[in-house]
Amino acid sequence: MPSGNQKHLEASIRAADARCARMTLLSLESNPLAHEPCPCCDHLTLSERDRYETCPVCFWEDEPFVERVRSGANHNMTLKAARANFARFGACSKRCKAFVRDPMPWECPPP
Ligand SMILES: [Zn+2]
Repeated sequence: MPSGNQKHLEASIRAADARCARMTLLSLESNPLAHEPCPCCDHLTLSERDRYETCPVCFWEDEPFVERVRSGANHNMTLKAARANFARFGACSKRCKAFVRDPMPWECPPP
C-alpha cells in the first residue's frame, strides 16, 4: 500500500513530467525565455545577447562584436548585409530562407 507521502511524491512527479513536456513543446515553437531583440531582424527571439543563439525568424547567429566586421558564424556576412537580406528575402541570407519561421505575436518588436 503506498503511503500518503508516496502518493504525493508520485503526483508531483506526474505534474513535473507534464510541465516538462509542455516546455519541450514550447521550446520547439519558440524560446520561452526570449526577450532580447535579434540584431538582424529586431524580433524578440534571443534569451541573451552575444551568446551565439540562432534567431528562428531570420537565422542570424548572434555573434558578439559584429556591428562593423564580417561575421565568421554567419558565413562572413556583415550584419548590414544580413539586415538588407532580411528586408528582401525574410531571412538573413537567401539560402537560410528554408530554415526560418514566422515570428510569434509576442516576438514582434514594439512599434
Ligand atoms: Zn532575427
